[in-house]
Amino acid sequence: MGLNVRVKTLILGGTNEGRDLAELLVTDGHEVITSLAGRVRRPARIAGEVRVGGFGGANGMAAWLVGNGINRVVDATHPFAEQISTNAVAACRSTGTPLLRISRPSWASHPLADTWTWVASHDEASREAAGYEKVLLTVGKQSLDHYRNLPDVAARMVELPEEPLPGSWRPLLERGPFTVDSEKELLRDLGVDVLVTKDSGGSLTEAKLTAAADLGVRVIMVRRVPVPKDVPQVATPREALAWVNEVPA
Ligand code: NAP
Repeated sequence: MGLNVRVKTLILGGTNEGRDLAELLVTDGHEVITSLAGRVRRPARIAGEVRVGGFGGANGMAAWLVGNGINRVVDATHPFAEQISTNAVAACRSTGTPLLRISRPSWASHPLADTWTWVASHDEASREAAGYEKVLLTVGKQSLDHYRNLPDVAARMVELPEEPLPGSWRPLLERGPFTVDSEKELLRDLGVDVLVTKDSGGSLTEAKLTAAADLGVRVIMVRRVPVPKDVPQVATPREALAWVNEVPA
């Protein structure tokens, strides 16, 4: 990239990693726009410019990248936000824009991973969980529909979904981080015999896994879809900052 071409980065956000990267880039003197889907009613404050709402698919994103002079894209979305990540790959390919993925380390290499029942989808998780009595569900508000067949559920989430939950369910509106002790207390108080969760990875919501192991609570874990091999990946916002500074356009 020539010396007088400005570096302008789009962060696909909605995560702590995205927010931390925006802060790092702004502090480093970069122009940065963070994109949010608009799902959360009161999102946390983010450094730099913010835009909210879908782009209109991969073609819409491609047109938006060109129209806004973007020459770096960092996909910092949640590992289970699959559609936006697929669109980012296509939009960056068609416009020749360098793309990096911040991928929170998976729990597949967690010391307890071999003790969990790994499943490929929420529907499979729901079928597995049907064999238990009291379910703690920590899969996020957007995946709850797959579990509506289960009668006795405590569902933890940051915000309630638009659709009302089954009357027999108990919503727990909380945002991590949580401690092992508080997670044990929760599992015990509710009498949970199975925890259904997804491989979000990282340390923020990991305590429930230790707590479940300590109490002999079964864990059903929904797998991630792997990141395409040709998309470079880093684990942290700091590594993403280095990539933004170094990548040739
Ligand atoms: P998704 O299923 O992958 O995306 C569905 C559509 O929503 C996309 O095609 C796109 O619409 C729009 N969209 C998603 N993320 C966007 C973003 N950052 N900026 C602009 N448009 C976006 O996504 P999702 O699972 O609903 O997640 C939505 C947001 O919540 C993401 O930003 C993600 O990081 C965050 N989040 C998700 C989870 C989770 O478990 N899924 C957990 C925590 C946070 P168009 O096709 O119109 O562009």
